[in-house]
Amino acid sequence: MDKMTDKPTRNPSVVIIGAGMTGVLLTIKLREAGITDLTILEKTDRLGGTWRENTYPGVACDIPAHMYTYSFEPNPDWSHRYAHGDEIQAYFERVGRKYGVTNSIGFNEAVTSCVYNDGKWTVETSKGRTIIADFVINSTGILHHPAKPDIKGIETFKGSVFHTAEWDHSVDLAGKKIGIIGTGSTAAQVVPEVAKIAGKLSVFQRSPQWILPLGNKSVSEKEKAGLRKNPIRVERIRQINRWALSHLLTKAVTGHKLQKFLLTLVCQQYMKRAVKDPVLREKLTPDFEVGCKRLVITNTFIPALQRDNVDVVTDGIAEITPTGIKTTTGEQIDMDVLVLSTGFNPVAYMRPMNLLGRDGLDINDAWKDKIKTYRSVCLPGFPNNFLMLGPNSPIGNFSVIEMSEVQTRYIIKIIQRWRQGEFDAIEVKPTAVQRFAQYMKRGMSKTVWVSGCQSWYLDGDGDPILWPYTFQRWEAEMAEPEMNDFDTISFS
Ligand code: NAP
Repeated sequence: MDKMTDKPTRNPSVVIIGAGMTGVLLTIKLREAGITDLTILEKTDRLGGTWRENTYPGVACDIPAHMYTYSFEPNPDWSHRYAHGDEIQAYFERVGRKYGVTNSIGFNEAVTSCVYNDGKWTVETSKGRTIIADFVINSTGILHHPAKPDIKGIETFKGSVFHTAEWDHSVDLAGKKIGIIGTGSTAAQVVPEVAKIAGKLSVFQRSPQWILPLGNKSVSEKEKAGLRKNPIRVERIRQINRWALSHLLTKAVTGHKLQKFLLTLVCQQYMKRAVKDPVLREKLTPDFEVGCKRLVITNTFIPALQRDNVDVVTDGIAEITPTGIKTTTGEQIDMDVLVLSTGFNPVAYMRPMNLLGRDGLDINDAWKDKIKTYRSVCLPGFPNNFLMLGPNSPIGNFSVIEMSEVQTRYIIKIIQRWRQGEFDAIEVKPTAVQRFAQYMKRGMSKTVWVSGCQSWYLDGDGDPILWPYTFQRWEAEMAEPEMNDFDTISFS
């Protein structure tokens, strides 16, 4: 019974799918809110998601480290301004242990099927378990389905070939002839590290990238000791970074002219200053606007591309042969190892699980023509089901951790209403979904993402799957669920 309202307080059963950054967060925050009947399922044997999976050389987060932490769990011990992947993984493992999340996770247990019927979800797992739950939250991540290019002859290659997200650490790269396909944010981190040890590195660039040249400064032991003693300073660093990201970077790509002008100037000047050879500079300078594709944030990629043992190949790839790559000009480039830094399928989210909503609606059919979500977390046709970091989240230019905290609070507010007995099932109204889609469409036209480039930000219709306004606006609009936008049902 709730003391304030005299209404009965129910404890819903909730299944959280995935134990990455969002799954760990949800577990902590749902429990704090008194929602304790949780089943957390993780397909692998460790928590950490992206940071467990991506172990390529140079893996790091190009969002400032003090912003890439949970707000309730600051970390004065980050070793660099931008944290390395293994350190981030260790952070999540530490938080998982501290809050008793790790020992609650069902590891090596993938969800195979999730089916809704009259207010309940039936969740089936790879271990043959069946769980009946009131709510399901998909914290399954965005960029976790490697996109492997279907290039002619790839299966004939006799050397080692692997995607960056499936790095084969048994392959010794020292002194080898290596090819890397792709020049996105991942390649920009891998190339400088591989270039240091490769005999010869060929980087296959289909599109050049704009670079924001921010360096990764290390943090001294003295600085860390100072931060440990003074948590207010850690919070101040976080707030300064937050301000810079939301008022400069995010605004620059969402239609704010001054910020866009300044960002463009910085990136253009860097390209002029950093690339000495005019022929190479022309190859490396994009013909699309700064920020159209996700900005690459690093000051080590361009220098690495100018090393004597590195070639930037801009001719197209005609085919992969047993010994290397043949370009469209007929040149054969031999290699021992081929790395696919070719990105991810960004809209697979919770697939391949069988997800059936109300009246047997299959997520593959629901999203066949167009991805439909509401406020980034609600899936029309799928009552009592939420998606973390879903389409129209402000991905790309802000900390996904802060976004997830906003989404977590939103979801908890809805579940608390269920607990008070306001409804048994809740689903966003089709009219609200339509209105939200139009609202997104109006904002998109002002963003740089639609200015004429191809990127994973765009869906099949060329519409960005990102939030097209400022972060502050998103945060404000997510502060309270608009209950008029939902249909609710009570079964008793
Ligand atoms: P990506 O940005 O999608 O880049 C893929 C690259 O592969 C592009 O250069 C693309 O060329 C190229 N490519 C794809 N298929 C190809 C083909 N068949 N032939 C030749 N080239 C091909 O992928 P990513 O670099 O893995 O980054 C994905 C996202 O992960 C980033 O945008 C970012 O959000 C996130 N990320 C974040 C960090 C971080 O520090 N926070 C680090 C790494 C990644 P085109 O450009 O021509 O398509």
